[in-house]
Amino acid sequence: MPHIQQLESHVADLIAAGEVVERPASVVKELVENAVDAGSSAVVVEIRRGGMGMIRVTDNGCGIAPEELPTAFLRHATSKLRTEEDLGKIGTLGFRGEALAAISAVSRVDILTRQTGTTEGAALHLEGGVPGAVEPAGAPEGTTITVRDLFYNTPARLKFMRKDSAETAAVNGLMQHLALSHPDISFKFIKDGVEALLTPGDGKLDSAVYAALGRDFARGLVPVSGSGGDITVSGFVTAPLMGRGSRSMQVFFVNGRFIKSQLLTAALEEGYRNQIMKGKFPGCVLSVTLPVTAVDVNVHPAKTQVKFAREHDVFDAVYHTVLDALGKTSAPAAAPAQEARLPAASRQDFFQTMDAKTFRQGGAKPAPQPAAPARPAWNTELRAPARVADSGQTSFYQTKRSESAAQGALGRAPASVTSPPDTQQSSPPAPSCNKGALGRP
Ligand code: ADP
Ligand code: MG
Repeated sequence: MPHIQQLESHVADLIAAGEVVERPASVVKELVENAVDAGSSAVVVEIRRGGMGMIRVTDNGCGIAPEELPTAFLRHATSKLRTEEDLGKIGTLGFRGEALAAISAVSRVDILTRQTGTTEGAALHLEGGVPGAVEPAGAPEGTTITVRDLFYNTPARLKFMRKDSAETAAVNGLMQHLALSHPDISFKFIKDGVEALLTPGDGKLDSAVYAALGRDFARGLVPVSGSGGDITVSGFVTAPLMGRGSRSMQVFFVNGRFIKSQLLTAALEEGYRNQIMKGKFPGCVLSVTLPVTAVDVNVHPAKTQVKFAREHDVFDAVYHTVLDALGKTSAPAAAPAQEARLPAASRQDFFQTMDAKTFRQGGAKPAPQPAAPARPAWNTELRAPARVADSGQTSFYQTKRSESAAQGALGRAPASVTSPPDTQQSSPPAPSCNKGALGRP
């Protein structure tokens, strides 16, 4: 065996960069999330050749002070996290302080920025992570970052890049999700000189859905809104008759982040049980908000996954909210009769995930406490009792552990992604503004 040696920092940085920046879409994601964290109300994303030629993100957020500009590109440099305790209550989209370092390590970057309330902006150029000098520059308030020649110094990665069209499609999908998760921000996306997306940023989720997913999808949607304990669920789901051939139009956000979750998919589809044709799937744009301490986002930066502290509560929240919304729109008579004819096992096909199966098996959970509150305040008044009683979910639901009550005061309120900005005063993500989104200077 050769001798063991610590990697040169330059090599270690390239490896770390590869974990954050897999493809152009990861660059766009990180840059837009920074723009969101900076409190922007308008974000423009421009790409050429699927982002391999150029990526430019312009925002009107708080900007970066000239003297802090080089620091922003150092690894583990962030304004959003200070102490170990802060890790438990992350309210911003970013926090690792790795994105700018990683992106600049594998590309050529230009940044132009002016801080809110200052008169002069600053510009900086970096090549492969090596910064030039900070130059004074005229600039509008906010930040523009241009990334060129992605992976020019990592030929192995370059070789594995897919066609420009595949990268363009990936960025396009990402832009849809970003626009949907921030209806209060106006997003413009320009690919190869052509405007592909423009959302009004009026704070209304339906405007964003219409702009991002198109008129056809927007037409058959049922509004969904429910809250219980410290979990709220809002957004839109497709009417049962508008079932789709795949799950591709199931869009979930947790505290403003687009995520993929078998748990949320299962909860959504449970709400449609016996209301939707076999082989069809509901579509949705659903936003789940819960205390930042009740969800772990401290996973791989490129992954769209989270871990819920109380999975059953989240499942219940989504399931009951969806069920309520559908109950208000569909004819109530048909469902119980149809349900009675179906042997319980035939519903298994709805649960193609382990998560869902686990949830159905109420017995697998810790013993319920006898004094547990009968029901949290979901909007259940309008639902016919027969349907609930038959769902197999009831016993578990009604005897829910009282842990949600015990965990009442869970830190700060979650970010709301569907309400207009003026209802969000107490909610992170707060603008980072290089003062620390966690409220400390
Ligand atoms: P993180 O977002 O995890 O803090 P980044 O490397 O993405 O790390 O960014 C480093 C820092 O640079 C951020 O914490 C923020 O202070 C600043 N920053 C980056 N992008 C912007 C932006 N568009 N507007 C204002 N500040 C920004
Ligand atoms: Mg970031």
